[in-house]
Amino acid sequence: MTTTPGTEIVELTDGVFARLHEGLTNAGILIGDDSVLVIDSLRVPSFGRDLIKDVKHLTDKPIQYVVDTHSHWDHSWGNEEFPDSTIIGHTNCRTEMLDLEAREWWMNRVVSANDPWSEEAKGVRITPPDLTFDTSMSLYFGGRQVELIYLGRAHTSGDIFIHLPDDSILFTGDVAQDGGVPFMMDGYPKDWVETDSRLAELPAERFMAGHGPVGEHAAILEARDFIHTMMGGVEAAIADGQDEATAAKAVTEAMSERFGGWRGFDRVEDSVAYAYRQISS
Ligand SMILES: [Zn+2]
Repeated sequence: MTTTPGTEIVELTDGVFARLHEGLTNAGILIGDDSVLVIDSLRVPSFGRDLIKDVKHLTDKPIQYVVDTHSHWDHSWGNEEFPDSTIIGHTNCRTEMLDLEAREWWMNRVVSANDPWSEEAKGVRITPPDLTFDTSMSLYFGGRQVELIYLGRAHTSGDIFIHLPDDSILFTGDVAQDGGVPFMMDGYPKDWVETDSRLAELPAERFMAGHGPVGEHAAILEARDFIHTMMGGVEAAIADGQDEATAAKAVTEAMSERFGGWRGFDRVEDSVAYAYRQISS
């Protein structure tokens, strides 16, 4: 099976696939009796079309559902390529996608990065979920129970988890990755601590995050420990009277022994400074 260059499709269990994209954004694919559910539509329309092509390698069944793990561009700006599908997301995910200020902030970042997709991003028609929920939603899809779960704010205000309880499989979006530091600069680091504690309770032998490889449950616990350690450090630094820059350096330094080898560790210092501002404001 030849898929889009840079991607690899891993079958997690019968009819459940992780489409991993090296260095970019992952998507999930669930094949039901008559149709398909995909998790995340990816960064710009052409990436959504590549995903659709790769789904067609697996099955002729139509894509009935697109689930947005959260509002971020690299997960949801392919939504417009799925006009016949129901797009599902958290209520706050929809709100964030309709927020003109947030949209502009992201558009500026993506366009000014001069990446291969920056030009295409200018023409994206942002298409928010048309079916939303606040706490949880159950789908019975292909003889399988699919739980969409909200556990509180974390990476965004509307992160959801896709849990397959019978298969012990979880899709975590960007909240918890296997050995990767999530982007935090528009997130809710204080709430993230509690959300991660709840996430760690969901039974999941294996999980796919929005970025990086398929992980095992121990990696979710590591991701939780990362946020707990970071926020514990920030709180201690504030209690100690450290200023923002000193705290950012000290907390990053303290975390480097355990987490220094993670993807994106170079963004930790800025993230600590951001968390410091969030807590002290
Ligand atoms: Zn994200």
